[in-house]
Amino acid sequence: MVDLQTQYQHIKADIDKGIEEVISSAAFIKGPKVTEFQAHLEQYTGSKHVIPVGNGTDALQIALMGLDLKPGDEVITPTFTFIATAEVVALLGLTPVVVDVDWDTMNISVEGIRKAITPKTKAIVPVHLFGQCADMEAIMEIAKEHHLYVVEDACQAIGAKYTFSNGLTKQAATIGHIGCTSFFPSKNLGCYGDGGALFTDDDALAEKMKAIANHGCFVRYHHDFIGVNSRLDSIQAAVLDAKLPHLNDYIVARQRAAAYYDKAFAGNKHIITPGRDEHSTHVYHQYTLRLVDVDRDSVREQLAARDIPAMVYYPIPLHLQKAYQDPRYLPGDFPVAERLANCVLSLPMHTELDEEQLSYITRNVLDIVNQ
Ligand SMILES: *Cc1c(COP(=O)(O)O)cnc(C)c1O
Repeated sequence: MVDLQTQYQHIKADIDKGIEEVISSAAFIKGPKVTEFQAHLEQYTGSKHVIPVGNGTDALQIALMGLDLKPGDEVITPTFTFIATAEVVALLGLTPVVVDVDWDTMNISVEGIRKAITPKTKAIVPVHLFGQCADMEAIMEIAKEHHLYVVEDACQAIGAKYTFSNGLTKQAATIGHIGCTSFFPSKNLGCYGDGGALFTDDDALAEKMKAIANHGCFVRYHHDFIGVNSRLDSIQAAVLDAKLPHLNDYIVARQRAAAYYDKAFAGNKHIITPGRDEHSTHVYHQYTLRLVDVDRDSVREQLAARDIPAMVYYPIPLHLQKAYQDPRYLPGDFPVAERLANCVLSLPMHTELDEEQLSYITRNVLDIVNQ
């Protein structure tokens, strides 16, 4: 699905130098590499504050902890996403309220959000699924109207750009009150272990979230509230700082591969290629097909037999997960998400796909679905 070895070979000198510097300085925690990377990421995204943390899930949790929500407050998330989005809501004693997604973009349904708002709703956590921004203009309008916070789950969408109808363009993670991303190795900007970051333009919120990530203290050994321990270590920061200058090229490489797939599959009656939102660029964390009138799991097995990996992101929507059983939700409540869970298939997508690989993959996918 990804080829991090080949990618590393192209940037080995820079990565090795960065890691070596950290080891010889022994500044493993909160070293200068972390601050440098933070500043570079602020520059790249245009966000006023970047707060590096331990992983993307922590970023989501710290974001919600920063908002002073009370147990029972409701947080709206899409039901078709990675579990972390709703997990942190539930862990904090807040109530996840899930809504359906749109068939075309696979992102949270604005109509669904409107219907899910109650007097207890305090925040919306849209997910920019697979690398394309959710309908942020509409979401920010709803949030303003109902005085809600917006925490973007941009774990799959670093570098994606969203253009508002007035022409203003912002990057994923910098549109809502807080943005969150993950540097998990296979993410579009991935380190060689765990990592994540928070983004905000709000000075007070930035200070608070920094303190939460650091055991709840502004001043060492003075704990103002209950926090967590979550930090990006210096070696990971060195890897990320070496990779960040390549992020735009990496995005272009992914978009090229996606364009190849799009073209090869266009018009096939069993394949629907990823739907596009005209306001957002797509950074293709995943290239995800919807298969129709063909057995998705059998296609996946046949691809595997031809040495082509393909993955199902995600096979079970949140409202049907055992841990999230809730009398409010029944099978059939979110038909689009349930249909997607049964028909999506993600193909290999990374920065190193070459024409020969793409040709082999597309020929075999077509051969299998057409038989
Ligand atoms: C990867 C991911 C996360 C979690 O990131 P980690 O760094 O693995 O904790 C959360 N949400 C989404 C949508 C993700 O893809």
